Amino acid sequence: MPTYEYKCNSCNHAFEAIVPMAKRKTPTRSSCDICGKKQVKQVILTCPNMGMDSCHDIHKSSGGFKSAMQRVCESPGIKNSKRASELKDRYNL
Ligand SMILES: [Zn+2]
Repeated sequence: MPTYEYKCNSCNHAFEAIVPMAKRKTPTRSSCDICGKKQVKQVILTCPNMGMDSCHDIHKSSGGFKSAMQRVCESPGIKNSKRASELKDRYNL
């Protein structure tokens, strides 16, 4: 299940949400953790099945990057794979 990062249009709070593939192009129904508004926009998709090199922008913007990477490492098809150990090494998870 892909993890998306969202940003609140109202207070600029950024947060992450797991979104089913079928809904990946629709706006999240999640509310902002801080102000409770539903004016959130999708910012970033973390991509467990793609080269992580294409996701470097995440470093700059997300305080939740490490936890996102940990979830990636624990996801089906990734867990216990060579990719997971590479990610753990690279990001000190
Ligand atoms: Zn907000």
